[in-house]
Amino acid sequence: MGRLIAISNRTAADASARAGGLAVAVWESLTATGGMWFGWSGNIVDEVGEPEVIKDEGVEFVVTDFTEDEHDGFYLQYANRVIWPVFHYRVDLAHFGNTEFATYAAVNERIANMVVPHLKEGDSVWVHDYHFLLMGDYLRKGGWDGPIGFFLHIPFPSPEVFMALPEHEQIARAMCEFSVLGFQSESDRSNFVQYLVRHYDAVDEGDGWISVFGRRIRANAYPIGIEAEAFAEASVSQRAMTAASRIGRFLGGRQLVLGVDRMDYSKGLPQRFEAVGKLFDHFPKTRGKVSVTQIAPPSRSKVEEYRDLRIQLDELAGRINGDYGDLDWIPLRYLARSYDRRELAGLYRIASVCLVTPLRDGMNLVAKEFVMAQDPENPGVLILSQFAGAAEQLSDTLIVNPHDSDKVAETIYQALEMPLEERKARWEKLRKTVVEQDISWWRQKFLDDLDAKTD
Ligand code: UDP
Repeated sequence: MGRLIAISNRTAADASARAGGLAVAVWESLTATGGMWFGWSGNIVDEVGEPEVIKDEGVEFVVTDFTEDEHDGFYLQYANRVIWPVFHYRVDLAHFGNTEFATYAAVNERIANMVVPHLKEGDSVWVHDYHFLLMGDYLRKGGWDGPIGFFLHIPFPSPEVFMALPEHEQIARAMCEFSVLGFQSESDRSNFVQYLVRHYDAVDEGDGWISVFGRRIRANAYPIGIEAEAFAEASVSQRAMTAASRIGRFLGGRQLVLGVDRMDYSKGLPQRFEAVGKLFDHFPKTRGKVSVTQIAPPSRSKVEEYRDLRIQLDELAGRINGDYGDLDWIPLRYLARSYDRRELAGLYRIASVCLVTPLRDGMNLVAKEFVMAQDPENPGVLILSQFAGAAEQLSDTLIVNPHDSDKVAETIYQALEMPLEERKARWEKLRKTVVEQDISWWRQKFLDDLDAKTD
């Protein structure tokens, strides 16, 4: 493969942003190929000047500022208040306005025009996520006919839901300008392909190949992984052990049920709290013996929705703690702040149960991190929503419907009571999958397909 050119809303130009798995995976591919990475600088300005170029270890970052209007229309509105809710099946929360799509398209076009002059024969472009669904079209219009890969980190909804977007056709046509489309799960891929088959007579030729709009493109599932071994090491680091001993003091020997999610409506937190209430209602044995801690850092980009969610969670937690709490026991607490991933690793390790019950999630990395952080001699139990992308790979764990709070409560109880042998047997299988299908596997699988497309 020649040079890799990455495009994503935020880049890892700042070395401290290279801590997350994805940033590491893209960064490593770029250092290996001497590539470039385009995106937003993170700054909002009155007037946009020349993009800033930052060179680091042979990688060139080219980042642009946004105007206030661009940041609002492109990022806050269309990407986060239209695409995000619709793709997470929350059409009711989408704010369809008249002008935001034009700004979204204009930013895609401006960035494409920033990229094209730098492209050379032999390069491959890799576009990331829902901010840039139109990027393929604008790169083609700018004259680039080489390979372009696209990876969607969030779910792709069923055709009916996708069609709630007034601009669905324009978006779908633009997406078909990519050479390879990557989805998190088979179900996302199949939603996209079904939409094309039903409405544009696309032909699904097998092995990911689709004929549509007079072209052949490739659409496959590439479930994103984590830096598995590194995460296992982090779970026994000093930072992890300090965090574990701090929460250990609070627990006072009780079993910990843990949740870790950005405070977003897609994560199913109210439904989860309902289930926790039912756990204490229906299984009296757990009272005084189990503490539920939910870590829920607020999302910056979804301020209004966050406010409503917060009110709901305060009410639910208040009810549960009021009904069941005692002088020395808080049944459910949630911490609306973020923790370092090494600290989380320590918390995962001492948790008996991890609740990962989103109503929709592209993948959910917390599920995979929890698996890697377990003590092999005494592993905890993962409870995973059937609507998280991770459920396709981690089917050996306890899978639940997050809307069925009675059943979720029952499953938490089952997990708390699960014999050691069964916990070990299930965990071994999960661990194997998370290790084998880690972040390097994901990157390689995607880039191999992108490479094959060029032959
Ligand atoms: N995370 C973190 N600190 C926190 C909460 C979460 O570093 O306080 C990390 C977590 O370890 C995981 C990521 O944020 O790597 C969340 O990814 P996931 O796929 O679970 O959900 P997303 O937020 O992308 O929807």
